[in-house]
Amino acid sequence: MLHPITSNCNQNCVFCSAWGRIDEKFNLNSFIKEISSDKDSLITVSGGEPFTVGIDNLIYIANFVSDLGKKLELQTNALAVTDQEIKKLKILVSILNKTGGYFNINLSAHNSSLDWKISGVKNGFKNRVNGIKILKKIGAKIRITYVINTFNFKFIPNFSRFVIKEIPFIDWVQFSYTKGIGKAKKNKSIIPPYSKVSKYLLMGFKILDKNNINFNVDHIPLCFLGDFYYKHVDINKLKNKIKGDYLKEKSKIKSCYGCGFYKICSGPRKDYIEIYGKL
Ligand code: SF4
Repeated sequence: MLHPITSNCNQNCVFCSAWGRIDEKFNLNSFIKEISSDKDSLITVSGGEPFTVGIDNLIYIANFVSDLGKKLELQTNALAVTDQEIKKLKILVSILNKTGGYFNINLSAHNSSLDWKISGVKNGFKNRVNGIKILKKIGAKIRITYVINTFNFKFIPNFSRFVIKEIPFIDWVQFSYTKGIGKAKKNKSIIPPYSKVSKYLLMGFKILDKNNINFNVDHIPLCFLGDFYYKHVDINKLKNKIKGDYLKEKSKIKSCYGCGFYKICSGPRKDYIEIYGKL
């Protein structure tokens, strides 16, 4: 289950899903209590930016999750990684590894100018990429999340080439469509139509596939994924009848009847259909 630790952030992303959320001030004891009541085997700590609560708190939380015998996913934009004491980072990485978990790093651009446009942070790209390299060097497992939005969808192939050239050591990439919540609920134009994105996504997939980089995709239906439809993360969840928020967020629509993917597809996001009314 997803546990937003804070809505504080060191960025101002155009697609921020935490935007407008009002949190109580971070309190370690309350957060530990919240995690204790989660029945899932995967605990996902998200933000805002988790590093803003301090690395000591993150180490404590990681240890707690490890003692529960659960896996921890720590979401971050990696901007603050280079500011951390390497000794503490190593401790955090080793505990995360002990849980079988990983860092989930939001990297939604292939160069500095696009990164600035999307994250609102000038010169953040270099720091972020350095942070990713440091984490890998000290043994972290890394998922990169590319949040597809109006500004970056045409550059998905460039991003795939960037991954191959600069960070081929990452464990996998997840392409995740912008959700119609937070800032995107206010500014719907940040969510592009599936039909416009599909061709760039397929080009990006092909490049990664050819170079043996692992990837998957979420929040865009199977009918826009061509031969790579099997990369959608929900297929496995549906086949194994795994419950989760994805069943509430997505729903098949009238035009889905008769589709060959019907049984293995969770459908478009409901907030996407609210904007576009159709696939
Ligand atoms: S079930 Fe609907 S959303 Fe899913 S692949 Fe088929 S037409 Fe697309």
